[in-house]
Amino acid sequence: MSTSPADLIREDIQALSAYHVPDAVGLIKLDAMENPYAWPEALRNDWLATLRDAELHRYPDPQGRHLQAALRRAMGIPEGSALLLGNGSDELIQMLALAVSRPGRKVLSLDPGFVMYRMIALFAGLDYVGVPLQPETFALDLDATLSAIEREQPALTFIAYPNNPTGNLFDAGAIARIIEANPGLVIVDEAYAPFTDHSFLPRLGQWPNLLVMRTVSKMGLAGLRLGYLAGPTDWLTEIDKVRLPYNINVLTQASAAFALRHRAALDEQTAAIRTERATLFDALANLDGITPYPSDANFILVRTAPGRAGAIFQGLLERGVLIKMLDGAHPFLADCLRITVGTPDENAALLEALQAALATA
Ligand SMILES: *Cc1c(COP(=O)(O)O)cnc(C)c1O
Repeated sequence: MSTSPADLIREDIQALSAYHVPDAVGLIKLDAMENPYAWPEALRNDWLATLRDAELHRYPDPQGRHLQAALRRAMGIPEGSALLLGNGSDELIQMLALAVSRPGRKVLSLDPGFVMYRMIALFAGLDYVGVPLQPETFALDLDATLSAIEREQPALTFIAYPNNPTGNLFDAGAIARIIEANPGLVIVDEAYAPFTDHSFLPRLGQWPNLLVMRTVSKMGLAGLRLGYLAGPTDWLTEIDKVRLPYNINVLTQASAAFALRHRAALDEQTAAIRTERATLFDALANLDGITPYPSDANFILVRTAPGRAGAIFQGLLERGVLIKMLDGAHPFLADCLRITVGTPDENAALLEALQAALATA
């Protein structure tokens, strides 16, 4: 008798639907917080020259030491902090979860927030506790969060700073209180660091339980899959033990180190995105039936008139523009859509399509 998936696969996994990434072929892609700018031709040629020396017949450097040193210099990682590299920050979240997992252990975060905290907690057999943000403003509810920490005693607390999908920064004083009151690790997730002037990186070392996580994805290297976690050596030494050997491949190590040597080109792009964010925000604010939320990230959350988000999302799709539908993802996100900031041309096309969709939706 043969075994079927229904017999063997965990029920909580069977109950999931797979992480869905929509097909974006031929569309203006403003759904996934990618940097819309490719590298200048000269830079691409230099990069290809670097790759000639990449040794594909060898396993990669297991710790990515050369890349770690480049990241330390480029990102200003404080002297006393250790560094751990992940295949995207998603893998770092997974390593953290695996390292603490035991029945009854909890992961806490703020909702609506980054869905992978909840998903990975589930994969790793941890319980997820989502503390609601304040409806409408998406500000952190400090009292509710502190009582949840007291009650749940989480092993891990994730705080996205700025938050995805809302785009706002939480009050830094409130985050400090959460770190102080926390019996477990607090991971401040700075995926959107290139788009804000605020960071907890300089505050590493101030608390023994603070880790700061970042990624190169949103700064313009989403295709490489590289995240990094900075914090106290005693913590990272333990978490490193669940890392799969050679998790950062040869091409990623070489390409990321190259990109960091040419950091100015990426900084120019992220600065352009920040400028465009302000222009796009003003244009969205001027549209009837759309309310944008201020953002410190490379995307803007908008709210439509009640019940219109689905039709507007479809209307944009029919006009060749893909954004992210959030209505239905969380009660506080009713009528919400998320728009990644694109190039000036892409944003102009989005606005034109949006005006047309609003007129007919
Ligand atoms: C996009 C995102 C990540 C994932 O980054 P990868 O390095 O691409 O895995 C992590 N955290 C937040 C809040 C994000 O929005």
